[in-house]
Amino acid sequence: MEAARVFDSKPNSAEARDIAFHLHSQTNPQRHAEIGPLIMARGEGVHVYDASGKRYLEAMAGLWCTSLGFSETRLKAAAATAYDKFGFYHSFNHKTPDNTIELAEKLVEISPIPDAQAYFATSGSEATETMVKLAWVYHAVRGKPGKRKIIARDRGFHGSTIVAASMCGLPRMHREFGLPLDGFLHTHCPDAYRGTRPGESEAAFVDRLAADLEALIMAEGPDTIAAFIGEPINAGGGIVVPPKGYFAAIEAVLRRHDILVLGDEVVCGFGRTGNWFGCETVGMKPDMVALAKGITSSYFPMSAVLLGRPIRDALSEMNKGGELFGHGFTNSGHPVGAAIALETLNIYHEMDVVPHVRRMGSRLRAGLEQIARDSRIVGQVRGEGLMIGVELVAAPATRQAFDPALKVGAMFDALAIENGLIIRAMGDTIGFCPPLIIDEAGVDEALDLFGRTLFSAEAKLA
Ligand code: PLP
Repeated sequence: MEAARVFDSKPNSAEARDIAFHLHSQTNPQRHAEIGPLIMARGEGVHVYDASGKRYLEAMAGLWCTSLGFSETRLKAAAATAYDKFGFYHSFNHKTPDNTIELAEKLVEISPIPDAQAYFATSGSEATETMVKLAWVYHAVRGKPGKRKIIARDRGFHGSTIVAASMCGLPRMHREFGLPLDGFLHTHCPDAYRGTRPGESEAAFVDRLAADLEALIMAEGPDTIAAFIGEPINAGGGIVVPPKGYFAAIEAVLRRHDILVLGDEVVCGFGRTGNWFGCETVGMKPDMVALAKGITSSYFPMSAVLLGRPIRDALSEMNKGGELFGHGFTNSGHPVGAAIALETLNIYHEMDVVPHVRRMGSRLRAGLEQIARDSRIVGQVRGEGLMIGVELVAAPATRQAFDPALKVGAMFDALAIENGLIIRAMGDTIGFCPPLIIDEAGVDEALDLFGRTLFSAEAKLA
């Protein structure tokens, strides 16, 4: 049922060369050889243009990341100024570029964790894995070296390197590679729409999830578990907003067993959910957070971990004999990335990103709910700020899902592309995560394109 794309298959075409020479992430190789790439040529604000000049509203901000859109000249200027000073410097062996210090300070100013320090890396995966290593240090220093296991959640996403992928709760991240590694456990996804039992209230659902987490901890042994990791709102797992009280309930269990809470703010950070950090939106109280994507609006590969005082103290204690903190990436705290991140933060502050996201998010959500009322296949509209999911179902009244063989999400994705709209289909949930600079006209355009796509999808399914 997926719409086919016709592509230029001449031997020297960009499409043919792409198929021959380029292995794509998160793409089926065989299908790619059949349909070819969608080649993007440039961007302007919230829009991108393909090689044929066709315009798309990029309602996913690329990969949940280009918060400032695709053509922010101030970021380009910040990079150019930084390159004028030097193309690279590092943060090993007591050295640092000057603006990396300034970035660390600015991040600590907005940190959801008190008395924090910033550690820099280049990808979200590196940031989530860094948190795991720091959790191991923390427990080892306190005489509990056996606390090594990590509890993540079904439908969580934390990256593609081996530990980060082990923490993912998505079968596609494990299947080919024999993952997860031993010691990486998974507990329930807090999806009340799909997870509640008949007659079960959301409060009872939360209590059950907390009880099941406790049971998992007891079965494994509390002295073997270092940390829990979770996104405040699951992104790639289908935009799952936890029910009220969820984090308070599970954190009470985790604290009782001396288990650290690691927040994956790679998508939710920097205003996305209508607060500076997603943990503030959902009442999560993490010991460390991982940041990436929005930190530079993805104009430079950069990530960071914010770690609180207990972790900082543990690291000092561990190395009190003069040893090095044996961790670091060549490009940790890269000066060009730092310059871009500092300018990105300036723009977030100047545009007053939090109220702006709340206003645009409310408009998008209200519009999607209006469209849903006229649709036969919308089960739920959910999300916070500018991170919204629309779950398509066969029967909204009973929440009955579509037969997976119909690949409704993939069909919707292809129809949206035809209509000039880029969304993300996660199963049959359609994700919106537009650049945070989107304005009223952009939101209305997204709604118009979504409505048209939905009604053509309905017609195909009739
Ligand atoms: N954590 C979350 C929540 C993500 O969505 C992603 C990537 O999409 C990552 C971590 C991994 O980031 P990266 O791809 O930069 O390694």
